[in-house]
Amino acid sequence: MLDSISNILYSQQTFFKSQKTKPIADRLVYLKALKEVVLSKEQAVYDALYKDFKKSEFESFISEFGLVLSQLNLVIKNLEKWAKPERIKSSLLTFPSKDFIYKEPYGNVLVISPWNYPFLLALEPLIIAIAAGNTVILKPSELTKHTSQLLTNIVKAVFPENYVASIQGDVQVATELLSKKWDYIFFTGSVSVGKIIAEAAAKHLTPVTLELGGKSPCIIDDTANLKLAAKRIVWGKFFNGGQTCIAPDYIIIKHALKQEFITLLKAEITQFYGKNPEESKDFPRIINTKNTSRLANMLKDCHVVFGGTIDEKTNYIAPTLIDEPALDSEVMQDEIFGPILPILTYETENDLDRIISSFEKPLALYAFSNDKKFIDHILSTYSFGGGVVNDVLIHFGNHRLPFGGVGPSGMGAYHGKYGFDTFSHHKAVIKRGNWLDPSLRYAPYNQKVTIIKKIFKYFG
Ligand code: NAD
Repeated sequence: MLDSISNILYSQQTFFKSQKTKPIADRLVYLKALKEVVLSKEQAVYDALYKDFKKSEFESFISEFGLVLSQLNLVIKNLEKWAKPERIKSSLLTFPSKDFIYKEPYGNVLVISPWNYPFLLALEPLIIAIAAGNTVILKPSELTKHTSQLLTNIVKAVFPENYVASIQGDVQVATELLSKKWDYIFFTGSVSVGKIIAEAAAKHLTPVTLELGGKSPCIIDDTANLKLAAKRIVWGKFFNGGQTCIAPDYIIIKHALKQEFITLLKAEITQFYGKNPEESKDFPRIINTKNTSRLANMLKDCHVVFGGTIDEKTNYIAPTLIDEPALDSEVMQDEIFGPILPILTYETENDLDRIISSFEKPLALYAFSNDKKFIDHILSTYSFGGGVVNDVLIHFGNHRLPFGGVGPSGMGAYHGKYGFDTFSHHKAVIKRGNWLDPSLRYAPYNQKVTIIKKIFKYFG
C-alpha cells in the first residue's frame, strides 16, 4: 500500500496538470454518477453503519445518507453559478477596468476523515473538493471497517484512481500520506491529530482546513422553557451515542433549577430509550473498547445521578447524568465524546464566565433562554465555532451557514458554497481597458504627487 500511495498521487498530479478536472460539464458528469451510485447503496450504508456501531437507520439517514444526498443535490444545482468568475466593482484607481475573482482549484487534495459520522464526513468534503475541480485521495477512518470499505467501493465505482481514490489504513498510512506534498489538506478529527496535520502541512506551506472538537457548553438561565430544553438537549446529547463533535459537552444551569432539570432530563431519556436503553434499537454503541474504557474512566469519581451502566464487552454505556463534577475532574478535562452529561451550576454571570473561560474556544455553544439581553451578552462575549439559541446541533443542517471551529476547535469552514470556496483559490484578476491611459502614474512625477494625494484622500 505504501508503495502505491506515491504512484496514485503521481497519477493524480499528472491528471490535474492535464486540465481534465476543470470543465464544469465533466465535473457534473462525475457528481451525477456519484449520486446514482450513492442512491443505489442506500441499504448498504445503513447496514455498514449498523455493523460498525449499531447506528439506527433513522439516525443514519438524517445525519449521514440524507445529508450526503442533499449536499450532492445542492452542488449539482449550483455548481455553474459558484464556479463562474465573479464580477467585482472596479476601483477608481484601476479605471478603466473589469475586475473579477476566478475560482481556481488548488490541485491535489487529501481528505482525512473520522469514524463518528464516517459516511458523511468522508463524502461531504470529497464531493465539494471534486466540485471545485480538484483531485482527491480520501483516507477514511480505520475504526469503521464496514463503512470505510463501502466508501472505497463507491469511490472505485465512480472515479478512475488518477482522479479520486480511497486509501484505507491506520496511523501508518495516514503518516505516509502526510509525508507527501499536497495542494490542500482537509482534516476532520481530534485536536491532538489536528496539530500533527498542521505540522505536516506547514513543511510544504500547504493550506489546511481543520474540523476539530472541544468542550461545547450548554447554558440554561432561569427564563428558559425547561421542559423543551430537556427534550432538545437529550436528543442532541445522546444522538449517535453522544459521539458528535458538536454535542453539548456539559450543562451549566442556574443553581435553583438544577434538581427540577435533572428530573426532566431523566424523564426524557426514559421516554426516548425506555427503562433499559441497552435494549433500545435507537441507541448506538461506543465505537470500540478503547473509547469505552476512556469513558468508563471518566465516570470513576463522579456523582452519577442517572444511568452509569457500562458493558465493556459490548461497548455499551447508558445515557448518564453527572451532578456537579469538579472542573479539574477527569470528565471535565477533555471533550467527552460519549453519552455522559455533566450538570454544573452558576449563580452569577461571573460564575458562568469562570466556567466557560476555563476551556478553550469550543466548536459549539448553546444557550437556552428567553431573555434577549442575556442571549446578546452570551453571543457577544464568547468565541465559538457556531451555535444555537434554544436548541442544539441544528446549525449543522443549514448549508447556507458556514460550519467550522475557531482557535483549538478548528480553522476554516465548509458546507454548501462555503465548502466550494474552501476548496478554491480565489484568484484576483483585473482586465484593463486600453482606451484610456492617464499619464498620472508615470515618471517624471513632477507636481503629480499633489493630484495623486487628493485622489487617494477622496476616492481611494
Ligand atoms: P482522530 O483524530 O483520532 O482520527 C481522525 C483521522 O485521523 C482518522 O482517519 C485517523 O486514521 C487519522 N489519524 C489518527 N492518528 C493520526 C496521526 N497520528 N497522523 C495522521 N492521521 C491520524 O479522530 P476520531 O477519533 O476519528 O474522531 C473523533 C474526534 O473528531 C473528536 O475530537 C471530534 O470532536 C472530532 N470531530 C470533529 C468534527 C468537526 O466537524 N469539527 C466532526 C467529527 C469529529
